[in-house]
Amino acid sequence: MSTNQIRPKDILLSGDKISIEWQDNHTSEYSSRDLRLGCRCAACIDEWTQRPILDPVTVPAQVEILDYLPVGNYAYQFLFNDEHYTGIYTFEFLRSLCGCSSCQGG
Ligand SMILES: [Zn+2]
Ligand SMILES: [Zn+2]
Repeated sequence: MSTNQIRPKDILLSGDKISIEWQDNHTSEYSSRDLRLGCRCAACIDEWTQRPILDPVTVPAQVEILDYLPVGNYAYQFLFNDEHYTGIYTFEFLRSLCGCSSCQGG
C-alpha cells in the first residue's frame, strides 16, 4: 500500500490534541495548533507564491478542533475554535505530518 492510498480508520478529537488511527493500524497524534498553523487554504497560504500569509501570532495559543467533516474520500476539513474551517487536509498531507519516530525516520 503506498502512502497516498492510506485512509484513516478512526479519528479522535480531544480538545487541543487530535489523533488519527490509520487503516494500516498506525496512530498519528497532532496538536490542534500545529494543524491550524499548517493550514494551506487561500487565506493562509498565497495561492501563487505558496508563501505563508498566516501570522502564527494571530493564532490563539489554545487552539482546539471542535469538529471535522470528510471531504470526498481523500481529505478532512477541520473546524477550529478560532472559527477557521476553510483548510482542506488530505490524508496524504496528514500522514506526512505524523511526528512519530518511525514516520520521521528517526
Ligand atoms: Zn486556512
Ligand atoms: Zn507515524
